[in-house]
Amino acid sequence: MSLKVRSLFAALVLLSVPFPSEAREAVDRHMHLLSPMAAHRLRRLVGPELYGWTIETSSGATLVSLLDEAGFDGAFALSDAYLVTMAEMGSSDPRFDTRRSNAYAALQVLIHPRLVGFASVNPLIEGAPEAVDEAVDRFGLRGLKLHLANSDVDLRRDGDRKALDAVLERAEARGIPVLLHFRNRNPRFGARDGELFVDLLAEHGELRVQLAHLGGWGGWDEATEALLETILSRFEADPSLGRHRLWLDLAGVACERPIPGLSVADGAGLARAVAMARRWGLDRVAFGSDWWVETTGEALDEARRRLPFTEDEWRTLVHRDVGDFLEGPRGEASGLRASSSYLTGY
Ligand SMILES: [Zn+2]
Repeated sequence: MSLKVRSLFAALVLLSVPFPSEAREAVDRHMHLLSPMAAHRLRRLVGPELYGWTIETSSGATLVSLLDEAGFDGAFALSDAYLVTMAEMGSSDPRFDTRRSNAYAALQVLIHPRLVGFASVNPLIEGAPEAVDEAVDRFGLRGLKLHLANSDVDLRRDGDRKALDAVLERAEARGIPVLLHFRNRNPRFGARDGELFVDLLAEHGELRVQLAHLGGWGGWDEATEALLETILSRFEADPSLGRHRLWLDLAGVACERPIPGLSVADGAGLARAVAMARRWGLDRVAFGSDWWVETTGEALDEARRRLPFTEDEWRTLVHRDVGDFLEGPRGEASGLRASSSYLTGY
């Protein structure tokens, strides 16, 4: 090879090397897997349909086809362990069912490396902290999904707070982030729960959290707004809490589907939600579809139509480098691999 050709070749190689800090991919940060076992049990509990959706398995292949349809690169794929261990499901062995659900999630992300696997656990089952260790050590999962409404966890109850604390302690120790559906079943949920949330987080100074649905459960109502106001105010007032480690996701906030218990937000409510997201900083706010409620494409269309963010802001919300969330600011990974890009093998 002549010197000229060789230097041209070298230049091309250099050009093709991705810049780690520039890794920006369109990411759906909130998609639910549903294993065949979980789909079966859910049908047994509620019948063939839920929210107008025919209950069927949601595998890694399902998620990837929805990402392709919407032009997305990757997603957080959430284990259904929190669902199969919900009290109403009547699991005879919640610890084993948790293992089975998390193993299913691990297998899906192994086959589909565009997905980042999140384990889940019901904090109230026996052996919940050990299930977090198992998810990391045995299954290589990279985050933890908790659903306090499904698991019926209420921080106003001492025992529940201790159980959740033990699970968060494990996640923090293992360096994995928590995607937290915090809204619970308490009809008086609101500002006071925001105080309890911040108090709990203050005890886990290294834990990274993505607060799902802006702190609610989709839609937008007074309780969610009061909660979020409390959380943001306390983080703003006390820098030692570490603003950098709290992310908010928009999953389901703009949802217009008539879902029991969900308050469809009006324009004024959504404008206030957008103002609060901007106040927090859009570098710490992200898009998520909440599939299997809506597909990535449907949820994005609906959110863009109803949430008054600018085009530039939407780019920020959708195209993310998720490394600092998954691995921490120093890139200390505890999952499948430490990488500038979370897409393993792509
Ligand atoms: Zn969800």
